Amino acid sequence: MSSSAASMDQDPGSPGRHQPPRRRFDGALQDTRGRRLQDLRISVTDRCNFRCTYCMPKEVFGKDFQFLERSQLLSFGEIHRLVRLFRDHGAEKIRITGGEPLVRRKLERLIEMIAYWDDLDLTLTTNGSLLRQKARDLRNAGLKRVTVSLDSLDDAVFRAMNDVDFPVQDVLEGIEEAAMVGLLPIKINMVVKRGVNDHDVLPMARYFKDKGYILRFIEFMDVGATNGWKMEHVVPSRELVEAINRELPIEPLERNYEGEVAERWRYKDGSGEIGFISSVTQAFCRTCTRARLSAEGQLYTCLFATQGTDFRSLIRSGASDAQISELITKVWTARADRYSEMRTAETAKMRKVEMSYIGG
Ligand code: SAM
Repeated sequence: MSSSAASMDQDPGSPGRHQPPRRRFDGALQDTRGRRLQDLRISVTDRCNFRCTYCMPKEVFGKDFQFLERSQLLSFGEIHRLVRLFRDHGAEKIRITGGEPLVRRKLERLIEMIAYWDDLDLTLTTNGSLLRQKARDLRNAGLKRVTVSLDSLDDAVFRAMNDVDFPVQDVLEGIEEAAMVGLLPIKINMVVKRGVNDHDVLPMARYFKDKGYILRFIEFMDVGATNGWKMEHVVPSRELVEAINRELPIEPLERNYEGEVAERWRYKDGSGEIGFISSVTQAFCRTCTRARLSAEGQLYTCLFATQGTDFRSLIRSGASDAQISELITKVWTARADRYSEMRTAETAKMRKVEMSYIGG
C-alpha cells in the first residue's frame, strides 16, 4: 500500500461520503470451528448510571467499587486504530457498548472517527437514559442505528429493576427522539426474569408492535459472577412465543444473516417484527462471530470468558500494525469457545468477567 493510502487509512477525520479504503489484509479470519470474525463489540466504559439488579447489583457495584481510571481506558485513537485493524481482518459490524456508553464523554467524537468507514454497520446499545439529549449528535456523527434496553413499561417495575429510581417515561422519550433523528431501525431489548417482569411481556409486545420498533426478548443469562443467576429465573423463549402467539399471532422469519443472535418472527397482521434471543435454552455458539473488547483493551472471544488478551499493553508498547494484526490473528484462529453449549449448574458458578466490564 502506498504511504498516502496508509495515511488515509489512519485518518480519523470526516465520516462517510467517500469510498472507504480497501481492507488491507483481505483475510476474514476463521476460528477452529470455522466461525468468521465478523462483529466487534467495544465497551467504552465499565461505568453505568443504572444498577440493574441482574447486571450491576448495588451490593457489588456500590460506592466502594473500583471502576477503571481514565488512564486505563483505551483512548478514542486507540479504539479507532483497533477498529481499522479488525476491519482489515473481516469485521463488518461494530457495536459500541459498556457499561453505559453514553456516559463516556464526547462519545460522538469516537462515533465520527469510526463512521469514516461507511461500509461498517455501526451501532450502539444503550439504556436510553441519555438518549433524548444525545440522539441528534450521535446521528450527526454518523451512528446508523441504536438498540435500547428496556425491561418494563410499568414504571414501578422499571424503577425497581434499574435500582436508581429512573422513570420509564424518560427512556420512552429517548427512543422517540432516536426515531425522529433517524437512528433506524430501532431495536428494544427486554431481559425477561421470571417473577420479576415476565408479566410485562405482553404489554411490551402490544406497545412496540404498532410503532415499528423491533422488540427482542432476551433470556436471563449467567454472565458474570454477581447476579445470582439460577435456571428457574430463565423464561424460555418457547414459552414467550406461545404466550404472544395466543393474543398476537406470529410466524417465524428467515435469519437475515448467518450468526444473527435473534430468532426473528413477524406479526401475521403485517404490523412488524419481534425477536427472541435464547442463549440459554437454544445456544448459538456454532454461529457466533463476535469478539469483545473491554474498555481497557482486553479482547474476549466469548461473553462467558474467564480470561482475555491484553491489547492495550501491546499498543502502548509502540507495537506496529503488523504486530497488532498478528495478535488478532493468533487469538481468533485459536478460538474454540462454546460456553453456552456446555452450560451446566457448575459452569454457571465459574468466575466469568462481568457483562458491564466486557460489554453487552
Ligand atoms: N448500558 C447499556 C444497556 O443497558 O444496553 C449497554 C450495556 S448492557 C450490559 C447490554 C445488555 O446486556 C442490556 O440489554 C442488558 O439488559 C443485557 N444484560 C445484562 N445482564 C444480562 C443478563 N444477566 N442476562 C441477559 N442480558 C443481560
